[in-house]
Amino acid sequence: MTSRTYLSSPDVTQAEEDALVRALRSGWVAPLGPEVDAFEADLAQATDRAYAVALSSGTAALHLGLLHLGVGPGDVVVTSSMTFAATANAITYTGATPVFVDSDETGNLDPALVEQAIEDQQRAGARVGAVVPVDLLGKVADHVGVSAAADRHGVPVLVDAAESLGARRGGRPAGADGVGAVVSFNGNKIITTSGGGALLCDDPEMAERARYLATQARQPVVHYEHVDIGYNYRLSNLLAAVGRVQLARLPQMLDRRRGWRRRYRELVAPVDGLTVFGGQDGVDAAAGEDHDNFWLTSVVVDEAVTGWSADELRLHLAEADIEARPLWKPMHLQPVFADRPAYTNGTSERLFRTGLSLPSGSALSDDQFERVVTHVRTFLERKTL
Ligand SMILES: *Cc1c(COP(=O)(O)O)cnc(C)c1O
Repeated sequence: MTSRTYLSSPDVTQAEEDALVRALRSGWVAPLGPEVDAFEADLAQATDRAYAVALSSGTAALHLGLLHLGVGPGDVVVTSSMTFAATANAITYTGATPVFVDSDETGNLDPALVEQAIEDQQRAGARVGAVVPVDLLGKVADHVGVSAAADRHGVPVLVDAAESLGARRGGRPAGADGVGAVVSFNGNKIITTSGGGALLCDDPEMAERARYLATQARQPVVHYEHVDIGYNYRLSNLLAAVGRVQLARLPQMLDRRRGWRRRYRELVAPVDGLTVFGGQDGVDAAAGEDHDNFWLTSVVVDEAVTGWSADELRLHLAEADIEARPLWKPMHLQPVFADRPAYTNGTSERLFRTGLSLPSGSALSDDQFERVVTHVRTFLERKTL
């Protein structure tokens, strides 16, 4: 009997279980405590940041990061159309309007189109409160190009690195770029606390303000005194204990996912019209750098060449109880955001139609992975005979 094979299920071991029980027995069950402080220090170190603020989700981190930048009602925020809805939702929580910008071939923001969007919005009289680039499926975006475009127009950058923890580009770890950056520890992400996230930054006031707003904006007096609207956004001490073990295990997890990527590359290489999504992994061996944390390995199917579609492969795998999923449906095509401004070039729509993410999690056993390979190979053989 085989069980369902998921794209990226949580990778937890005895070490996480032990850490959770230790935290529980330590008495620090009430939200904050020493595990949160230690997890924040570990995260800041891993991402070359001065501060990390551990929060209840990546979405909460985006929300607080935007609030710190002064984003509010009437503003627009330029972001990637090719992303998970959380990015656009957090922008909407502030009262601002998301403005969607299309991608290059890696699925990440096209810097030239970002500049065009900012100029166009400013010319129309809008205040562009922030640019929020997203590191899609674990691949670090061109933050040098995006930040240069934003800087020229005086707009701050908040990076959505929810999917890219552990990757590096230009000598910098994912999460190190922008005024602030956001990571996520949701259940399917590269590391997990079951649910959680963090805001990374270098400005002590930004970190302090985020902690304050995340704990109901309570004033430092003996009674409960409030001069701002706050949120209940902190990560619990118990979950931070799990996060510390996960972060320590991240290098091993990356190795495993990198291995799957290599195998998928071998599998698709001989097939015309079938490629691994995202181009080169940007491996700079000398610098020990992967632009990607291999969170999800995806393929792109050029149906005009292959004669079959990404959806046919998805359905074939589904019959074997193997999960495969299209890339994010672009935000400018989502019913809830369809009336927001969008600067498109056709890339994200094409990637949505032709892309398919395959099981990539570090918790996959060798046997589970071989089963996926066998089923993909059977499909390819049947189609090319
Ligand atoms: C997962 C994700 C988020 C949200 O993180 P949560 O911790 O689930 O709130 C935000 N942006 C992107 C791109 C994500 O993939």
